[in-house]
Amino acid sequence: MKVAVLGAGVVGTATAYFLAADGHDVVVLERQKGAGLETSFANGAQISACHAKPWAAPDVPWQAFLWMFQPDAPLLFKPWRWDPALWSWGMRFLRNCTSARVRTNMDRTLRIALYSRDVLKALRQHTNIQYDQQIQGILHIYRTADEFGHGRDTAAQLANLGLPQDILTAEDCARIEPALLPAVKNGDIAGGLMSPDDESGDARLFAERLAELAVARAPRFRYGVNLRQLDHEGQRLTRIVTDQGDEKPDAVVLALGSYSPHLARDLGVHLPIYPAKGYSITAEIENADAAPTISITDETRFMVFSRLGNRLRVAGTAELTGWDTSLDPVRVDPLVRNVKSLFPDASSYREINAWCGLRPATPDSVPILGKSPYENLFLNTGHGTLGWTMACGSARVIADLLNGRTPEIDLEGLELERFRA
Ligand SMILES: Cc1cc2nc3c(=O)[nH]c(=O)nc-3n(C[C@H](O)[C@H](O)[C@H](O)COP(=O)(O)OP(=O)(O)OC[C@H]3O[C@@H](n4cnc5c(N)ncnc54)[C@H](O)[C@@H]3O)c2cc1C
Repeated sequence: MKVAVLGAGVVGTATAYFLAADGHDVVVLERQKGAGLETSFANGAQISACHAKPWAAPDVPWQAFLWMFQPDAPLLFKPWRWDPALWSWGMRFLRNCTSARVRTNMDRTLRIALYSRDVLKALRQHTNIQYDQQIQGILHIYRTADEFGHGRDTAAQLANLGLPQDILTAEDCARIEPALLPAVKNGDIAGGLMSPDDESGDARLFAERLAELAVARAPRFRYGVNLRQLDHEGQRLTRIVTDQGDEKPDAVVLALGSYSPHLARDLGVHLPIYPAKGYSITAEIENADAAPTISITDETRFMVFSRLGNRLRVAGTAELTGWDTSLDPVRVDPLVRNVKSLFPDASSYREINAWCGLRPATPDSVPILGKSPYENLFLNTGHGTLGWTMACGSARVIADLLNGRTPEIDLEGLELERFRA
């Protein structure tokens, strides 16, 4: 079958890989010059199933209100901007801010995140792909006893859903990651949690190398191609119009991240995806002993730290301000301040690569996978904060559906259908 995958982020590239491995004739259409150059470019690098708690939770509306006027707040939301897409997304988000919805959404996210971790492991074994990975778990640190208490409550919920975490004292944290010792001695860490089966690695490098891997029938990547429109006859797509000629595939997979709603809208398909802009900085490590090797989530400051070879990546913050990709130094500052205070000797931090990207966020933090109202259009999008974590599993699901196989996980609550209910 000829399949067109739209978008070569980490999600689209993984999809193309599995479809090609199944023997399909795959073409990937991507506007950038390579794979993984937009939101998958410099993310937090965590394969983090334990991060399954959705953004929408009972305490979040009040917290977001308090942060509304703080330009460097971890979550910035400006509802007074003229932005009907944000208002409609925001209403759905508010409906997900109940304890019952948190449990449901966490269960759905975990289902695909845990599956995806397994698919990634198998793929790694099969291909020996290298992407500056660290397979040592993820350490979560808390700055105050109060927050550590909340963290332990979430850990209990995750344990009930099949994802156990170890509870650690501050000293345990420093034993696991000696680079944290100065912070522990200063009394900056109240305690931690360890997710032993999580991992980290460079999503861009993974996408780039996966795109290069020869498989049974290698996917054809067409870079520098701008998608214009999808034509259809009845409930079947017939043609993809681009600025560089048309394609007429038998099936299409939509994996355009935050831009997925734009093309879908013209087909009458409403995808409730809104961009949640996040930032990262990457610094060269100059003193390896003073830099962390294990990936760390600072749960109090809403930031993650990942070692990528000789680089230290720090990522975090979310801003709901539309499809604007400009880099605001005020949003970069908290990342720089935090890394300098936690790992002061890891780098001189004289040269820092700052970056921002648009997380394709759904109101319930669960991706949109599977069938669409069009019989030959498949959706693989809306992965929000966990697109790298969920990429391989989501790709496997789509390949299974296209092959007429039953996916290995239940798709209940992961399909677009849930927003119609
Ligand atoms: C600061 C930050 C930190 C993050 N940290 C983590 C983390 O630690 N772990 C994790 O799991 N996830 C993390 N994420 C989320 C993760 O990066 C995303 O969910 C993931 O990259 C989404 O991948 P994607 O392939 O769906 O989208 P993208 O990578 O954006 O790919 C979509 C592709 O579609 C192409 N495209 C769009 N429109 C068109 C068009 N009209 N024509 C042609 N091509 C088009 C784009 O060029 C792009 O390459 C983070 C995100 C951010 C911003």
